[in-house]
Amino acid sequence: MASKFIFVTGGVSSSLGKGIAASSLGCLLESRGLSVALQKMDPYINIDPGTMSPYQHGEVYVTYDGAETDLDLGNYERFTSSKVSRINSVTTGQIYLSVIERERRGEYMGRTVQVIPHITNEIKSRILKVAKASQADIIIVEIGGTVGDIESIPFLEAIRQFSHDIGKENTLYIHLTLIPYISVADEQKTKPTQHSVKELRAIGIQPDILLCRTEKEMSNDMKEKLALFCDVEKEAVIQALDIHTTIYEVPIQYSKEGLDDIVVDKLGLKKNKRNLKRWESIVEKVNSPKHHVQIAVIGKYIDLQDAYKSLYEAIHHGAIANDSSVQIKRIHSEKLTPESLNGQLEDIDGIIIPGGFGERGIPGKILSCQYGREHKIPSFGVCLGMHCMVVEFARNVSGLKDAHSTEFQEDTPHPVISLLEEQKVIQDIGGTMRLGESETTLNSESLSYKAYKTHIIHERHRHRYEFANSYKEKLCSKGLKIAGVYKERDLVEIIEIPDHPWYVGVQFHPEFQSKPIAVHPLFKSFIQAALSYQSSKTQA
Ligand code: GLN
Repeated sequence: MASKFIFVTGGVSSSLGKGIAASSLGCLLESRGLSVALQKMDPYINIDPGTMSPYQHGEVYVTYDGAETDLDLGNYERFTSSKVSRINSVTTGQIYLSVIERERRGEYMGRTVQVIPHITNEIKSRILKVAKASQADIIIVEIGGTVGDIESIPFLEAIRQFSHDIGKENTLYIHLTLIPYISVADEQKTKPTQHSVKELRAIGIQPDILLCRTEKEMSNDMKEKLALFCDVEKEAVIQALDIHTTIYEVPIQYSKEGLDDIVVDKLGLKKNKRNLKRWESIVEKVNSPKHHVQIAVIGKYIDLQDAYKSLYEAIHHGAIANDSSVQIKRIHSEKLTPESLNGQLEDIDGIIIPGGFGERGIPGKILSCQYGREHKIPSFGVCLGMHCMVVEFARNVSGLKDAHSTEFQEDTPHPVISLLEEQKVIQDIGGTMRLGESETTLNSESLSYKAYKTHIIHERHRHRYEFANSYKEKLCSKGLKIAGVYKERDLVEIIEIPDHPWYVGVQFHPEFQSKPIAVHPLFKSFIQAALSYQSSKTQA
């Protein structure tokens, strides 16, 4: 069967959760036995978000093939079984770059190169590429930004043409909007949605379905009014009520509103019964946990909602898998001092030191590693977090005074973490780190092996610095264990301290491969260790 295409646009305001909406729809369609692929079109000019600060963009999500992408791609993988790759993430920068390169090669045969048709054709070809590669029944394409933005106009024009090219019966437009509630008047307002749809129609796109984010239940009258003014069927006005339990309830909520029924109907797809049992059981577990843990995340971007998005999600997955709820205590690494450490960490059941770049906050992270190690609190270091663990161990256990990572001190007497060989010649910063999936072989006598229950694992990377093998012997003789290596290139991938209940540092980013219905083994094991630590404290 040829693929069908669903385009998700956003109106009225940003941050309405288009990514979660698109992912939840994907989840719902999969629950009806259909295969899906998801793609994000971001209207900014950067080639990818890899060069952007977390303050600008939130987390950079890494695909298995090493693309640095928008964090919504993480949602696509968490909510569905589809695997995203380089081609699932498109930006204006990428589109223009390829058109301009083609122009330089003379491939436009003397013609004037223009937004229409050259840019729009390039956008359409990227959508078709995903359809071809995935062979999925349905391709869901999310257009970043808000309708009305100047930047997104070529994308909207391209998706308008797309329906013309492949037939209206094969495409569907879903517009996600906001129904604001004015508390002083105690009224919900449809006007912003009407305006947003008007804007969309001015570009030539008539939405088939309105997905309305709302704080309060929408009345029948409101749905009728929206249907009339926006020219959609009343059944196609879907309310998306705010959810306060877990985002993993969104697919269930949409199913109750009949979103998948309408989509299946409108696209003439097979009407298999939906089966959301696995997702329902996730929500049940979230609603009635047997335990509760407190996990500290020591980072410098903790005031941002999205900077450690996948990590926070993976912690929740780990908790769900242990029938537990979790409170994540976000601790600012820059503000941690030897004096404040105890007060901040004493009632914590587990510590995570996440990935990151740059020197700010490093001393606080190193202090937390020491605290976790000495107090035998389950501690998990991810990428930069693993680097901090190694530095701390070298300084305080192996007696290598002033040991450091050359990322922060080039002339350290003991460069226990140093630049990867291949990185020494690199000049451009965009897309040049060690990126994507590679193989790690686990030591059978390790905690990691116990968690993964297999010797060979594949995990995703995004870094320039690594464990310096020249210090392996010195550190291992003092009790550090190399629990996993990338054999082909002799790179250390996992360190552990066997004389500790759970002290694991990983060079990769396990959080990118955790899903609520397929929790990552390390996060499951870490939360389990946190719960044991907690009960050992109460027994003491
Ligand atoms: N800054 C470190 C490096 O480049 C760690 C990167 C990370 O945590 N993702 O190696």
